[in-house]
Amino acid sequence: MTPPDLDGLRALDARDPLASKRAEFLIPGGVIYLDGNSLGVLPARVPERMERVVREEWGQDLIRSWNTHGWIDLPARVGARIARLIGADADEVIAADSTSVNLFKVLSAALHVAAKGDPRRRVIVAEEDNFPTDLYIAQGLAALLGEARAELRLVAPHRVADAVGDDTAVLMLTQVDYRTGERHDLPAVTRRAHERGALAVWDLAHSAGAFPVDLNGAGADFAVGCGYKYLNGGPGAPAFLYVARRHHADAPNVLSGWMGHASPFEFTSRYTGASGIGQYATGTPSILSLSALDAALEVFEDVEMRLVREKSLSLTRTFIELTRPLCARHGFRLATPEDDARRGSQVSLAHPHGYEIMQALIAAGVVGDFRAPNLLRFGFTPLYTSHEDVWHAVQTLDTVMREGRWQDARYAERNAVT
Ligand SMILES: *Cc1c(COP(=O)(O)O)cnc(C)c1O
Repeated sequence: MTPPDLDGLRALDARDPLASKRAEFLIPGGVIYLDGNSLGVLPARVPERMERVVREEWGQDLIRSWNTHGWIDLPARVGARIARLIGADADEVIAADSTSVNLFKVLSAALHVAAKGDPRRRVIVAEEDNFPTDLYIAQGLAALLGEARAELRLVAPHRVADAVGDDTAVLMLTQVDYRTGERHDLPAVTRRAHERGALAVWDLAHSAGAFPVDLNGAGADFAVGCGYKYLNGGPGAPAFLYVARRHHADAPNVLSGWMGHASPFEFTSRYTGASGIGQYATGTPSILSLSALDAALEVFEDVEMRLVREKSLSLTRTFIELTRPLCARHGFRLATPEDDARRGSQVSLAHPHGYEIMQALIAAGVVGDFRAPNLLRFGFTPLYTSHEDVWHAVQTLDTVMREGRWQDARYAERNAVT
C-alpha cells in the first residue's frame, strides 16, 4: 500500500463530519497535540463555566448553591452524560473520586456479590501488565480482606479468560492497554467470564470518549474510568463509576460515607446506603472540577460515537502507514495491533531511545508521551485532531530523527512525569 499523501489526507479532512468540533477546543498555537489520552485539550466552554461557577455560584450564592444551582445532583448529572458514551443507563453511572478510588469501591462490591453466590469465589484475575494503579488497588484490597476472602491472581496478557476458574470472583481488565493501545473485545471477554461464573469489572480509562462502549449490551457488571483523558475534564478531573442496575440491591459500597447514605441530611448514626447508583458516592463532591467536566461533556452532546470510532481508526491507520518507512529508516517498531478491531485510539512505537526522541519531538511542537521502558505513545482524539495534523506530526518525527536532534544531552534528563 502506498503511504497516504498530504492532498489525500486534506481531502479526508474536508469531508470529516466531526471537523467542526475542533473549534470547540482551545488548542495552543504551534502545537500538534497527540496526548489527549493522558490529558485532554481544554474545551472552549470550560473557562466560561468556571468563571460563572467561581464568581456567581460560589462567590455570590455560596451555600445556597447546593440547592439553587443543583450542586448536590452534579455527580448524577455528569454520570448521566457519561452513561450515554459507555452504553449505560443514566442511573447506572456517577462521577466521583478518582479512578483508583472507584476501582476499590467496585472491586469490593464485586467480591461481595460473588462470595454471596458462592463463598469459594474469592480470586481477582487480572493481567500482570495492567496499569499499575489497578493492580496496586487490588493488592491493597486483598491485603485488607485477607487470604480467606480475597486473592489477586496475575496472569500473562491474553491468558485472562482461560485463567477464570471455579474460585474466581472477578475478572478485572482494562479494555485498552495503556502501553500498546491493544483493545480487548469487551462483549466477548465479558461473556467468557460469565460462562465461567465470574463477574466482569472493566477499566475504561482509554475507552470512554474514544469510541462507543456498550456496557449494558455486553452485560458488564462494574466499570470505572477517567474524566481527564478522552473526556477532556481537566487535570485530575473526577472519575466515573458504573454499576449494572441488577447489582444495586446487593453490592454495597465499602467506602460508606455520608454522601452515599439514603438520607444524609437526617444525620443518623447508622449507615443505610441509598438504593440506586447514589450509594456509590462517598464524600462531598468537588464542585469546581465536576463543573469543568460537565462543561467538557457538553461537547459530546451532539456527537455520534460511531463517527468518533470511524475517524479514530482512520487517524491511527494513517499514522501507522506514514510511520512504516520511519520504522525501517530509524529503527522504530510498531507496538500496536494493525488489526482495526484490536486497536484503541492510540499508537505506540518502540525505540531504545524512546525517551530522548519524545523529548525532542515535544520541543519541536508535537506532543505525545513516553512509557517505560521504550514506548513513544501517540493518542488520537477525533474531536480535535485532523489527518493533516497526523501528516505534520510524522514529518516532524522524521526530521527529529534525520537531524539526530534527540541526541542533545538536555533531552536525556528525566522529568518527574514522563
Ligand atoms: C490513567 C489510568 C488510571 C488513572 O487512575 P487515577 O486514579 O485517575 O490516577 C487508572 N487506570 C488506568 C488503566 C489508566 O489508564
